Amino acid sequence: MNYFFTIPSKIHFIFLLLFFSNILPAFSEPGVSVFMYHRFGEEKYPSTNVTEKQFLSHINYVLNNDIKILKLDEIIESLDRNEKLNEKAVVFTVDDAYSSFYKIAWPVFRDNNIPVTLFISTDIIDKKTKGYMSWGEIRQFINEGGSVGQHTSTHLHMPLNDISDIKKDILNSHKSWIKNIGFIPKPFAYPYGETSNEVIGVLKEFDISHAFGQHSGVVSSLDNRYYLPRFSLNERFGEKDRFEFAVNSYSLDVKNFLPIDMFLVDNKKPSIEFNIIQNLKGNSIDCFSNPGGMWNKQEIINIKKNRIQIKLNEAYLNGRARLNCTTKVDDKWYWFGYQFLVK
Ligand SMILES: [Zn+2]
Repeated sequence: MNYFFTIPSKIHFIFLLLFFSNILPAFSEPGVSVFMYHRFGEEKYPSTNVTEKQFLSHINYVLNNDIKILKLDEIIESLDRNEKLNEKAVVFTVDDAYSSFYKIAWPVFRDNNIPVTLFISTDIIDKKTKGYMSWGEIRQFINEGGSVGQHTSTHLHMPLNDISDIKKDILNSHKSWIKNIGFIPKPFAYPYGETSNEVIGVLKEFDISHAFGQHSGVVSSLDNRYYLPRFSLNERFGEKDRFEFAVNSYSLDVKNFLPIDMFLVDNKKPSIEFNIIQNLKGNSIDCFSNPGGMWNKQEIINIKKNRIQIKLNEAYLNGRARLNCTTKVDDKWYWFGYQFLVK
């Protein structure tokens, strides 16, 4: 958690002052913080679980502080209309439909009229897998006001599979949705947050128009519709201060991000570059990443006006690699996150 509050170095400050002052538009779009849970009160699985106490602290915080809570569908509609997300808001999502969601969290969401979207891998439900909700419970959840989203059929690592297998998997999930619910939900979430440009091409063929990852960040109107960020909440990242920080963070908007594909094949130490759209008003940006399997602050080089390069201090390991960049401007924290799958 120390990567939230770091002291900008003098060198960064001077560089960024030169590069970012008075050449960029002012900050205008707070964006929406989308949260992702998996399990509730299942302390055996700390990396995908939040304790009941942590979960209730989140709900109490948004209710007691009048934080605007939106349905996932509402931000999708706003993005479709190319509207700016001008009011700071939050959205709750839950992946995989574990029984602990239905038992512990759903009654809290429902009784407080808080919208929540459940991303479901259909094959896992079709097989009546122990520890997961049944289709009967999912129908009940929908009848009581819950929303659902696609999460493939078999919860596969999408970029690591053949295109034909990915297509079969999505087709199977669509058949199951029609059979069990009567419709195909619009939103999609990648299992493990993993995707690639090739996978995105398949989604487009299936008329899927919005897809969420598992990289931290705040959704804004400028985001890639096929790689929308969500803040993952688990026992480590579910403490009250981190949750509140994510609720109140604004979107740090970037464009022309390189490397162009989030799936890195034989490219373990990529040159990461992007343009920052907003005016940082001379404030420095800090980027943390986990090359070599360790979270560290990475060196930032200004390569052009408002374009930076992140020089990784080591190569990424195979698997998921993450990047989190934050900056503080006028007492607000701005956040940009990204995830690569490295092979
Ligand atoms: Zn999942």
